Amino acid sequence: MNKIPMSSPDLTDAERQAVADVMNTPMLSMGQYVKDFEQAFCDRTGAKHAIAVNSGTAGLHLCVRAAGIGEGDLVITTPFSFVASSNVMLFENAIPIFVDIDPKTGNIDTALIKDAIENTEKYLPRKGAKTDAKIKAILPVDVFGQPADMDEIMALAKEYNLTVIEDSCEALGAEYKRNPAGMLGDFGVFAFYPNKQMTTGEGGLVVTNNDEDADYMRAMRNQGRAPGDTWLTHTHLGFNYRLDEMSAALGAVQMSRLDEMLEKRTQVANWYESRLQDVEGVETQFIEKSTTKMSWFVYVVRFDKSINRDELAQTLIAKGIPVRPYFAPIHLQPYMVKQFGYKRGDFPITEDLGNRSLALPFSGVMSEEQVAQVCETIATLI
Ligand SMILES: *Cc1c(COP(=O)(O)O)cnc(C)c1O
Repeated sequence: MNKIPMSSPDLTDAERQAVADVMNTPMLSMGQYVKDFEQAFCDRTGAKHAIAVNSGTAGLHLCVRAAGIGEGDLVITTPFSFVASSNVMLFENAIPIFVDIDPKTGNIDTALIKDAIENTEKYLPRKGAKTDAKIKAILPVDVFGQPADMDEIMALAKEYNLTVIEDSCEALGAEYKRNPAGMLGDFGVFAFYPNKQMTTGEGGLVVTNNDEDADYMRAMRNQGRAPGDTWLTHTHLGFNYRLDEMSAALGAVQMSRLDEMLEKRTQVANWYESRLQDVEGVETQFIEKSTTKMSWFVYVVRFDKSINRDELAQTLIAKGIPVRPYFAPIHLQPYMVKQFGYKRGDFPITEDLGNRSLALPFSGVMSEEQVAQVCETIATLI
């Protein structure tokens, strides 16, 4: 049997042809393909504006800028995520204020968000934040393709006048109470690294309904050129966060296949679920009622405390089955510990899930035989 990859893009000849078509034009950047790709997102999500960029991290960073989050400002977010969702605050010398998560879904705990707004001092890191700093925004993450509890979050944001940046980099195509993930806050961000639900190689995209913010983000991704600026006029100190035409052409075809690809991923997740539900000591993904559509990004299981997760992971890898502990808590990353003085025990639910979770090989092109092989191997080892 072929070696099972940890993840895999889902590509057809249509994607290969689209990229080749761009290569036959002189326009490899700032052309029609990016515009078409953006339009596909407006059509899909109902967003007024879609701004394509060259990574999900770049998209989140532009949102932080557009929201006016700067030096010393506080942003409530989750430590159970990929590092990018917190790093974008640090890029601006703003400070992520972590609150722990709902143990069932792994998404940010909205009761703790409220407490952090009302009793901010209790949530400040040991060092690195001013005691009189103000909370400016909330940055929830739709973990593993399941939307955060956005109604609760938006109600708090409204009450306390905070901006909400929804990190939907893991949740393209998911729905919260029948509304598309990414459209629930002031800004939504998607990402297209090859392990995501759809890919552009590298890439990301911001959706928003705010005209002014969209103009600003378009300028900031393009070296600070505001509408009306010439090539060598730069209204702002900007970045080069542009997505190229080859990536956009690939992405446009992937978008046209999104529902088909999401269905295949759901099928693979269902194969896992049916084979793992009766394996003692293994807990599969909990799906909240508000998640009217799950968009499977990764397939993560949790092991009982009695099972040595790391030893099991090593054995699986030795047997040719790639697996990955998921997530490693952000507050315990070396640079976070150094800047803010975080310690093990600060966010116990995040740490507990971090200790017991394992991402199994997962993609839309995985076969039922491969899923069976992974599950049988796990079942014989525990
Ligand atoms: C993938 C991802 C991102 C963005 O990653 P890039 O590699 O910059 O595209 C951001 N946040 C989360 C939670 C992610 O999973």
